[in-house]
Amino acid sequence: MVSEADCLFCRIVAREIPAEIVYETDRALAFRDVNPQAPTHVLVIPKDHYRDAAALAAADHGLADEVIKAAHEVALLEGVAESGYRLVFNTGPGAGQTVFHVHGHVIGGRGLQWPPG
Ligand code: AMP
Repeated sequence: MVSEADCLFCRIVAREIPAEIVYETDRALAFRDVNPQAPTHVLVIPKDHYRDAAALAAADHGLADEVIKAAHEVALLEGVAESGYRLVFNTGPGAGQTVFHVHGHVIGGRGLQWPPG
């Protein structure tokens, strides 16, 4: 289990690791993914540490709402809200989650296939 002190995204929140921040509220932060999979690929996180979307929703419905609203604000800022975007919370290793601080991927700016690979 990753402690908050060792958590990569907690360290981005603390400004100990640089990131290109595109949107911020009191309780949420959005920054560009270092390995973008589309012209827009931004990660949206709660500043507080929860390991995944299920833990966040169980602990604080209001904060889960804020993260989703922040994702839509990012889509508006990035100019993909109208054309459409994907908001993905990989949840658990089997789904491809590699960083265990909950994050929504805001992906857009190109055609997106369904189902994802
Ligand atoms: P996931 O596989 O859903 O856990 O997504 C983790 C994402 O974090 C991946 O898309 C990585 O490219 C991204 N990532 C890893 N390290 C950083 C970092 N220092 N700054 C921004 N994005 C990162």
